[in-house]
Amino acid sequence: MTFLDILNKNPITFDDFKRLLSKEGADNIEALAQRSHQLTKKHFGKTIQLYAPIYLSNECNNQCVYCGFNSKVSEKRISLTVDQAYDEAKVLSKMGFKHILLVSGEKKETISVDYLKKLVSKLRGLFSSISIEIYPMTEEEYIELFAAGVDGLTIYQEVYDREIYKKVHPAGPKSDYDFRFDTPERGGTAGFYRINIGYLLGLGDWFSETLALAKHAEYLQKKFWQSQVSISFPRLKGSSVSDLQLTQMICALRIFLPKAGLVLSTREQAELRDNLIPLGITQMSAASRTSPGAYSIDAPSSSQFPVSDLRTLSEVAAAITAKGYEPVFKDWDSNFIML
Ligand code: SF4
Repeated sequence: MTFLDILNKNPITFDDFKRLLSKEGADNIEALAQRSHQLTKKHFGKTIQLYAPIYLSNECNNQCVYCGFNSKVSEKRISLTVDQAYDEAKVLSKMGFKHILLVSGEKKETISVDYLKKLVSKLRGLFSSISIEIYPMTEEEYIELFAAGVDGLTIYQEVYDREIYKKVHPAGPKSDYDFRFDTPERGGTAGFYRINIGYLLGLGDWFSETLALAKHAEYLQKKFWQSQVSISFPRLKGSSVSDLQLTQMICALRIFLPKAGLVLSTREQAELRDNLIPLGITQMSAASRTSPGAYSIDAPSSSQFPVSDLRTLSEVAAAITAKGYEPVFKDWDSNFIML
């Protein structure tokens, strides 16, 4: 079968996906991008949903070697009270965001389930969708949070290769690979209808990590067919994964999983983000600050990762419009499901 034959198939097989991700795919990147664009337009229209993260705490019990919140880094640590977090949220709400992601380091003692329930009960009036990227929890804890109003879960495996995983997560609860790997499934079983996974681009071999990611997402889509499964592309600064590989990966995943949400954060430069808008991306963060209290409190502390796209929300929205796309703030999916 020729490469173009694969592009005209729907659905494609996992073996086809491997070819899209191979050198053959890189050599045919324009055709790959065109097919990805067509499928994205068919399933999502010309829209980009915008969201923003709120960092609740940079305290963490883990020692991930790639992260600024690593417990061994002697930086100023801050955990927001529920009221401080609510102040942060009000700033984002005033800016127009309807979809937020609550993020924190992994310190259960500080950002407890009760803390989250209290916060979410206050936030429900301001936002149509609230997702969490906190720490892996049990199914029972997720059931409680879902009942409180959390509808989405983001959890990255960071790296699928077990050997590398062990090396980069030397201590703390995160060193349990399997508990982390099963987390999206516990979230799906608990009822979250938005499940977002990914790996950190740059920790392992790009090709085999992307294959593992695709299999993982396909499995979750089949098991939780009523949920929206999304994939993020967090790329480490200075990573060996090139812009071309990132583009190829986004397009190949779109063709393999046409209905998956594809999410790009402000880790990436503005120009690259803009160029990727028509190629498969469906959600983007904007105007992000990645340290606790950064939207409303003048208390600088360590950031989890450096933000590369420093544009304001209106600048990002204008860039999306300039590409012929519509920036969307409202989470129409959740509205529909909550009817
Ligand atoms: S990546 Fe997450 S778990 Fe690891 S040190 Fe950073 S905040 Fe903690």
